[in-house]
Amino acid sequence: MLERAQSELTDWRGSGMSVMEMSHRSPEFVSIAAEAEARMRSLLGVPDDYAVLFLQGGATGQFAGVPLNLTAPGSSAAYVNTGAWSKKAIAEARRYLDVQVVADEKESNYSSVPAQGSLEVPAGAAYLHYTLNETIGGVEFPYVPETGDVPLVTDASSTILSRPLDVSRFGVIYAGAQKNLGPSGLVVTIVRKDLLGTARPETPSMIDWTAMAEADSMLNTPPTLSWYLVGLVLEWVEQQGGLTAMAERNRAKAELLYGAIDGSDFYSNPVQKEARSWMNVPFLVPDPALEKPFVQAAAEAGLSGLGGHRSVGGMRASIYNAMPIEGVQALVDFMTDFEKQNG
Ligand code: PMP
Repeated sequence: MLERAQSELTDWRGSGMSVMEMSHRSPEFVSIAAEAEARMRSLLGVPDDYAVLFLQGGATGQFAGVPLNLTAPGSSAAYVNTGAWSKKAIAEARRYLDVQVVADEKESNYSSVPAQGSLEVPAGAAYLHYTLNETIGGVEFPYVPETGDVPLVTDASSTILSRPLDVSRFGVIYAGAQKNLGPSGLVVTIVRKDLLGTARPETPSMIDWTAMAEADSMLNTPPTLSWYLVGLVLEWVEQQGGLTAMAERNRAKAELLYGAIDGSDFYSNPVQKEARSWMNVPFLVPDPALEKPFVQAAAEAGLSGLGGHRSVGGMRASIYNAMPIEGVQALVDFMTDFEKQNG
């Protein structure tokens, strides 16, 4: 799709214009935007009573967007803390409402999710928020929490489109684009329409879901090139066979890597098995002094970006949709060699 974008960069489908030269109000760009939304809806099976918004400010912008759009001042909301990104969402929400942390996986050092059925939403909570996949910790919810009538809100940034998701279980799903959707900066927010219309008056228009829904996400000049690129990625996912096929690919990739880690006495993954992420696989070597040599030798072998997040160290393989199984196999082969030389 990058090659497709390259081939269309100066002349989009014979229009004589680059996408970045088009007015966002032009029929050409309006068709690009509508096509991307239609693809998103069909891939994820988004029901008609949900709006699909293409917003700016990344997932971080939505950390504020969620409380501002869903609650009045003086409200409370329930949050689940499964790690670094939950904490950021919680810190931002605290600026606007009373956050009740209903589960905190501190005891397991954020290597787990709450047991299914254990989450209780306190009376009066406007919604329950959780991080579907903790990108840094490599912790992914294997189930959708049950919250009855209380809207369920999730940050799906690092797992969206990696496998099917039952959108109808959620009030709001938001996802920064840069993992499985396209360029950073853009964020897709899927919101059940009955939750629109309640934004606080002081909500910045740019993160006001109602205002954005009414303006087809074009309250200002949107990031047109990014939006177009997301459309291309969605087309690619479609060509791969949609989310069922993506899930098969991603399951096979994850099984290959976790299998190699579990099958060795040298590598380890700290995450409880049922909560292991399909997208982000953190792993450790027995001696932290070997981390730097590992990352360096891997980079020399063409395997880049394997250093763990600066906040936790260790190693981490992010194996998003775009990573083919051959890439994971190359990593596993490298890990086997490295263990032979250093084990
Ligand atoms: N949530 C999760 C789960 C993430 O992984 C990230 C980015 N890595 C963010 C939120 C923040 O996204 P952004 O940088 O687009 O604001």
